[in-house]
Amino acid sequence: MHIERRVQDWLKAQARIELLAAVARYAEMIGKPTPPISMKDTTTRWGSCSSSGALSFSWRLILAPNEVLTYLAAHEVCHLAHMNHSARFWKLCRSICPETDSAENWLKAHGLDLYRYGAKGRGGSAKPAIF
Ligand SMILES: [Zn+2]
Repeated sequence: MHIERRVQDWLKAQARIELLAAVARYAEMIGKPTPPISMKDTTTRWGSCSSSGALSFSWRLILAPNEVLTYLAAHEVCHLAHMNHSARFWKLCRSICPETDSAENWLKAHGLDLYRYGAKGRGGSAKPAIF
């Protein structure tokens, strides 16, 4: 279905634009250079941070409220400083992104809805996590 494919390609491109802008903003806030980012259609993670400092995100975040997308950017950027989910990590994340807790709650409540759309929609029941 080529219309669906075209829409999905546009959404992926838009996700990249918005995530890169948010990542650059948050990286500056914590004094780090803007890391490279890539878009994925992972079914297990909304975002991740590699040991080399490259960030990847699910393009489906573009379907979520804007504060959820920007929260994911802040979350992964904070892993550039803390490669864990320690108390210091969460303190830093909340300090640069006051929406941390409301965005986490939104993802828990509605995250699976983001998988109803697009060519690679899935029927599984496992919920993606954030790493
Ligand atoms: Zn994490």
